Amino acid sequence: MKLVAATGNAHKLQEIRQILQGFEILSAAEAGFCGEIEETGNSFLENALIKARAVSSALHLPALADDSGLSVDALGGAPGIFSARYSGGGDAENRALLLKNLAGKKDRRAHFCCAVALVFPDGRTLTAEGKTFGVILGAERGEGGFGYDPLFLSDDLNMTFAEAKEEEKNAVSHRGRALTALKALL
Ligand code: IMP
Repeated sequence: MKLVAATGNAHKLQEIRQILQGFEILSAAEAGFCGEIEETGNSFLENALIKARAVSSALHLPALADDSGLSVDALGGAPGIFSARYSGGGDAENRALLLKNLAGKKDRRAHFCCAVALVFPDGRTLTAEGKTFGVILGAERGEGGFGYDPLFLSDDLNMTFAEAKEEEKNAVSHRGRALTALKALL
């Protein structure tokens, strides 16, 4: 089955391809979609649905979107749906702001959430969600991954997501779990 992944994030695309082996996954750009989609939802699921619907209706193809982020207990769930735009800068600035906001806090528990939505041109829709738990370290460890990975010490792996191999991260990650659940629905 041919699916368009409604994401401009090359790391996410790579993870989606690794997890959904057996499906032909085109990036939105490869499929000819070049519009900007505003994430105006109030939850990961609403944002995933907005992105998947926009791409599916523009291209008349099944479109898969993910929306994801990090929720930190001591920060009341922040940055949450604002994870990508937390600092107003890039990944490195987001991580620096997270460390600053957690300075002196004892509780370092956090989890990643991911919602995925697959929308077909006739409107049929499948959705799934996944979570993964860990703690935020006081300093970065590892070179791989993206976003908050170098700060996130996974409970499942006992290493940061940036230290893990791609397959190790995907086996326990929020995105891996959400996509595996979606695959089962398919
Ligand atoms: P989205 O593209 O709107 O879903 O934003 C997701 C943001 O959450 C990313 O830019 C990262 O900051 C963060 N994020 C989501 N998934 C991951 C992950 O697997 N590792 C590290 N950071 C992630």
